[in-house]
Amino acid sequence: MTEESTRDREFGFATQQVHAGAFTDDGVNARATPIYLSAGFVFDDFAQARDRFGGVDDGFSYTRVGNPTTASVERRIAALEHGEQAILVGSGQAALSVALLGLLQAGDHLVSASSIYEGSRGLFLDNFSRLGIDTSFVIDANDPLAWELAIRPTTRALFVESIPNPRNDIVDLALVAAVAHRHGIPLIVDNTFATPYLLRPLEHGADVVVHSASKFLAGHGAVLGGVIVSGSGFDWAARPELFPHLTEPARALGGRSYAERFGSSAFITYARDVVALRFGPTPSPLNAFLIQQGIETLSLRVDRQSSSAQAVAEWLEAQPEIESVDYSGLPSNPYNELARRYLPRGQGSVFSFTVAGGLAAAEALIDAVALFTRMTHLGDVRSLIIHPGTTSHALRTAEQLREGGIGPGLIRLSIGVEDVADLIADLAQALDAVRSLDAGRPATVAETAGFAGSGR
Ligand SMILES: *Cc1c(COP(=O)(O)O)cnc(C)c1O
Repeated sequence: MTEESTRDREFGFATQQVHAGAFTDDGVNARATPIYLSAGFVFDDFAQARDRFGGVDDGFSYTRVGNPTTASVERRIAALEHGEQAILVGSGQAALSVALLGLLQAGDHLVSASSIYEGSRGLFLDNFSRLGIDTSFVIDANDPLAWELAIRPTTRALFVESIPNPRNDIVDLALVAAVAHRHGIPLIVDNTFATPYLLRPLEHGADVVVHSASKFLAGHGAVLGGVIVSGSGFDWAARPELFPHLTEPARALGGRSYAERFGSSAFITYARDVVALRFGPTPSPLNAFLIQQGIETLSLRVDRQSSSAQAVAEWLEAQPEIESVDYSGLPSNPYNELARRYLPRGQGSVFSFTVAGGLAAAEALIDAVALFTRMTHLGDVRSLIIHPGTTSHALRTAEQLREGGIGPGLIRLSIGVEDVADLIADLAQALDAVRSLDAGRPATVAETAGFAGSGR
């Protein structure tokens, strides 16, 4: 087994995405990292079993503890994010759970941007609240005062998405990181929509990055996965009272603390050896393999998807039936300046737009597409379309939808790798269906009320 991590740092992104962290099976010289679909790994003898459990020998023992296929993907993603270490888990939701349960305990508080993935919002509101972990939401994530006002003595982390869902209201990561660090707490960034190809949050002050690997990293809409990546800049022991599980003597470390034993890796080691190991959101090595295959073409797909998204957004903006397009690559977009600063290679491929005529127009358009797939996913090689207000965001109240800028005519797209002319042609014929409805008829009061109260 060879680890290329030192040399990896010198290569460009496209080189790293196919080589970093590669596993070389020195028995048969497989070039692709093989799928080690095995629950466990043989101990040569009594002493090796003892040493492996004792942490003296770092070989593999049991797949929930570690697996060669999974470890190879972890090294590759850590290299691409310019992070120190990564943990691969079964889904994006599992990644966020493991990251936050590695930091927070009952009585602690989290401050999150309000513009985030609905599943993450549900995790904070419905699950963490039952564990005694409270969450406050900041509506304008680029207002430092809003963060300051939300932070309490018990706050232990700030959380944002780099490109938020579904409105592309880009977050000034350096600004939020500065607030977090003033309070001695880490900034966690969900980087799913940007991918490390477009943005590396650790280079802008973030301390922990999470991804849903189910989206762009795997890239083909076939498997789920999630990843947690740690940087090396946060001093977990600077204020020992904030993270006692990292600074007090640990049962597994013979009386030393994680901070003493692992330094800047204290958090990620705890998240791996205590949280992920015990809660058990272990990915299948088969899924790990498919995620790695996806990563090998990440930059090629994301380049194509971003430039096609830019073309589709520009085309939509020029159509009279379209009220607004929330794509940060458009010069008219209020987040364009931040996008130029944080996303110079491309502004991603998931964005929303609002069709005039409200819910009825959105329904007509979505039912009329023939090439776009109606599906709740993103980052796929295929282009996808969904109406957030009646699906992913249906549990939000009317006021929360308004706050989030999610009106009845808002539709979200995830642009794939098809020919962009075909995508635009599909949207053009779908707009014909909207026009033939009753051009520009505003949503009735009844429709608006039905939309707002359509929670499942
Ligand atoms: C999909 C998604 C998640 C959840 O990931 P799963 O792999 O579906 O569990 C979290 N955050 C963002 C931004 C997502 O798009």
